[in-house]
Amino acid sequence: MNTLPPGSTIGIVGGGQLGRMLAMAAAQLGYRCHIYSPGASSPAGEVSASVTSADYDDAAALARFADAVDVVTYEFENIPVAAMRVLEGRALIRPSIAALETAQDRIAEKSFVAALGGRTAPWAAVPDRAALDGALAAVGTPAILKTVRMGYDGKGQARILGPADADAAWQAIGGRPAILEGFVSFDQEFSVIVARGADGAVRAWDVPENVHHNGILATSTAPAGGLIAEQAAAATALAGQIAAALDYVGVLACEFFATADGPLFNEMAPRVHNSGHWTTEGAVTSQFENHIRAVAGLPLGDTALTAKRVVMTNLIGDAFNQWPALLAEPAAHVHLYGKSTVRPGRKMGHVTRLFPEG
Ligand code: AMP
Repeated sequence: MNTLPPGSTIGIVGGGQLGRMLAMAAAQLGYRCHIYSPGASSPAGEVSASVTSADYDDAAALARFADAVDVVTYEFENIPVAAMRVLEGRALIRPSIAALETAQDRIAEKSFVAALGGRTAPWAAVPDRAALDGALAAVGTPAILKTVRMGYDGKGQARILGPADADAAWQAIGGRPAILEGFVSFDQEFSVIVARGADGAVRAWDVPENVHHNGILATSTAPAGGLIAEQAAAATALAGQIAAALDYVGVLACEFFATADGPLFNEMAPRVHNSGHWTTEGAVTSQFENHIRAVAGLPLGDTALTAKRVVMTNLIGDAFNQWPALLAEPAAHVHLYGKSTVRPGRKMGHVTRLFPEG
């Protein structure tokens, strides 16, 4: 495919807030978006030209969707690969299904990154309960048991302080194939967000420090200080290598721990990422626009900061109710995702503040 001209249709699989912000960036560039999502209404569908509401196993709906769009991208990494395979023969998919498959499986992901020279936490595969005892002996404690698939925002994880916790942890993750990871002692958490164009050009944003509460991102602050500042270049180089090795087209997010021994890769997301939301106002080109540019075959935009410091705060659950006060703050950039029900732990919006003086 060459460059997609304005007026073309970008298909987005997944209907959440990431799809919503991608669709808004696409609209700015004159594209139409078509959302494929199982829900009857979705944050992304509300701002897009077309919507297909159908399940991921509806082959006929998937085929019609593929035929109606000029390129397909996705905003959610837990899409069944089988659904993407139905689209594959009929439409160009960016990023590739291989990137999705790697990121869906913690064993594949860690092995892939280790083969490129990246450092990960010590880990062992735990296909069943019996394997957990051997894994605990090999990895030691404290440790974290994580499901191999379908984990996000700290879900599908259980901490193990000693062998006596093994049964409870196995129950807590639903007795599914897992990996046991050694507990990493880290100073800070950060993410590297890179965009790779269809021509192989790579651009990275400044690296934010990410603070999580209960396994869910609370704030991202860019640029990061402390140990992260020393480790950002090496981690960014690794993220670029990962993108190149996957022949990736689009935005890729890699999460790291800053440890005394250097950056340690935790996981990646083959999509725009919550820790990159600050780029909408805090960078010359946002992660959303560069993702659209990449999948449309356009050159990537500049990723430089627009302020000395940028802080993004998630509005999770009840924090949504702060919206009147936030909107009374003249320089706060408030984003609300249009979700009708507030639930504990649900991402309802975010607010970004720029600090021109640092
Ligand atoms: P994940 O779903 O892998 O991103 O994990 C969610 C959060 O749990 C991370 O952002 C960390 O704060 C914490 N965490 C995950 N893995 C480890 C580990 N191996 N050691 C220490 N903390 C971890």
